[in-house]
Amino acid sequence: MNIQMVDLKRQYLEIKNEINMVISEVLESTQFILGKKVAEFEESVCKYLGVKHSIGVANGTDALRIALMALNIGKDDEVITTPFTFVATTEMIVSLGARPVYVDIEPESYNINPSLIKEKITSRTKAILPVHLYGNPAKMDEIITIARDYNLYVIEDAAQAFGVAYKDKKVCTFGDIACISFFPSKNLGCYGDGGMVVTNSDELAEKIRMIANHGSKVRYIHEILGMNSRLDAIQAAILNVKIKYIDDWNNKRFENAKLYTELLKAIPEVKTPHVNSDSKHIFHQYTIRVKNRDELQKHLQNKGIPTAIHYPIPLHLQPAFRGYSDEGTLPVSEQVAKEVLSLPMHPNLKTEEIEFIAQSIKEFYE
Ligand SMILES: *Cc1c(COP(=O)(O)O)cnc(C)c1O
Repeated sequence: MNIQMVDLKRQYLEIKNEINMVISEVLESTQFILGKKVAEFEESVCKYLGVKHSIGVANGTDALRIALMALNIGKDDEVITTPFTFVATTEMIVSLGARPVYVDIEPESYNINPSLIKEKITSRTKAILPVHLYGNPAKMDEIITIARDYNLYVIEDAAQAFGVAYKDKKVCTFGDIACISFFPSKNLGCYGDGGMVVTNSDELAEKIRMIANHGSKVRYIHEILGMNSRLDAIQAAILNVKIKYIDDWNNKRFENAKLYTELLKAIPEVKTPHVNSDSKHIFHQYTIRVKNRDELQKHLQNKGIPTAIHYPIPLHLQPAFRGYSDEGTLPVSEQVAKEVLSLPMHPNLKTEEIEFIAQSIKEFYE
């Protein structure tokens, strides 16, 4: 058995002809940055999500930076966010001179806990930045209610959650701005770096497009401070093929997760992922919480089963981000970081592979 965490080769082989064709179209056109292919993909995303504006950018990290810049978030502003996520979220807040204000996560979903947000709001708070971690939507109705009551912006980090719905409404459509990553291993991934910023606001959309292109609408006239963050035409062309399959792939992830949970739920040392009763989960990661995590990881590695830890150190304990929240103040995040283990997850995972992985975990605890 050749089990991969994410098997991009199997996926490529399924769509090889279509992908190769659109790549050669881009090569023939010599339009490599922005242009028709990017415009087509932006339109596909608007249709798919039901949003007014999608702006292709260079990667998901830039998408977060551009979103914060578009909302004028900078020096000494505070952004309420989760410490239990990939580094990019905090990194962009700090790099603009703003402060991340961490709110602990829910012990079930591992997403930001809405009931702990209010106590962290101050006169400097500008925005709430929830992450839909592992493809599981954060509780957006509660977050939006708080944001309205306190006049705060909401930026959704949907880097792990393209296509998932929260109470029948797709994520990316709740906040003022949403940020998407198309890093190859994301559930909608391209073959290099790529990202997107989406919004329903005409005014923000115009500003986002300008920021991503050197603060300029008209060439060589720079109205605001910007950067260079554009989506390549090759990546857009690939994504425009892949987006046709995203619902099917997300459903396959969901089915694979169901089988994992079925096979693992009887093991007392293993806590399987939580799915909200009123929304979906697209399992960008299938992440369990376990006893003796590091030993289990070694045991699985010896059987040829790759696993990963998302994430081993909460961001408030990272050396680069010390001084925002002390150790011990975000106890759920700190505990969960010691126990999580992500198992192989992708749409092309085979039943016998899932059975083998589950059996190997069972064996470890027997
Ligand atoms: C991947 C990821 C990002 C960053 O995306 P890149 O395209 O790699 O820059 C941001 N936030 C979260 C939650 C992610 O998982």
